[in-house]
Amino acid sequence: MSSVPVPASGDLAAFLAGHRRLFVLTGAGCSTASGIPDYRDADGGWKRAQPVTYQAFMGEEATRRRYWARSLVGWRRFGRALPNDAHHALRRLEEQERLTLLVTQNVDGLHQRAGSRRVVDLHGRLDQVRCMACERRFPRQDFQQRLLALNPDWAALDAADAPDGDADLDGHDFTGFAVPPCPHCGGVFKPDVVFFGENVPRERVQRAMQALDEADAMLVVGSSLMVFSGYRFAHAAARAGKPIAAVNLGRTRADPLLALKVERSCAEALAFLL
Ligand SMILES: [Zn+2]
Repeated sequence: MSSVPVPASGDLAAFLAGHRRLFVLTGAGCSTASGIPDYRDADGGWKRAQPVTYQAFMGEEATRRRYWARSLVGWRRFGRALPNDAHHALRRLEEQERLTLLVTQNVDGLHQRAGSRRVVDLHGRLDQVRCMACERRFPRQDFQQRLLALNPDWAALDAADAPDGDADLDGHDFTGFAVPPCPHCGGVFKPDVVFFGENVPRERVQRAMQALDEADAMLVVGSSLMVFSGYRFAHAAARAGKPIAAVNLGRTRADPLLALKVERSCAEALAFLL
């Protein structure tokens, strides 16, 4: 455990009370209490193998077989995850009309399930798949049924959960795993999320930057900000002279920019809002 004194949640309450309009950025730490593992350790390093890249997914059929086989197993629990107190607390901030926007790096849709409406899913949503040729989108749940119908032997498998609806299935042979093509055009399906090596759609970034502009302060919840797509907002806030508070267990890339750092679990640190 850290020997650094743990700030009382009163410090965070004072920060929130002192800044009326908040721009909120959330990351994996917000969903760990919902049973969804995160990628990084307390030092911001990778806990496990890096996630699949866009280039590997689009370029190699073998990578897609492996991805969807792991996803078939991982989705069952991921798709059933429920919001926790951190999500509910942030919904309360919206109800109190304190949010300019909630930008999440998570792809689990749990903010919306908790009732938040003013949300930008920076990295997309895992509950949809998209055809990369004709751009049609389908519910992930329907795609799951098609995967199961084509690969009945995989339905019984269980494995440790990994982030983003993935599961660790090391040692399996994926060559026999069948991935259905788009029924309309035969194209390749991809989860409707931003992979590593892929850019966040520009309109999402613009909407977020505009909301940051309208805010008095920024609140980071459960993100190490190691990925530039999230870090850029902290950088922009600091440049604009807006104070930043962060709730995160462990180091963040923006630590030198923070006015307040709360090293507690997100649900605990935000519980005073409920
Ligand atoms: Zn298609």
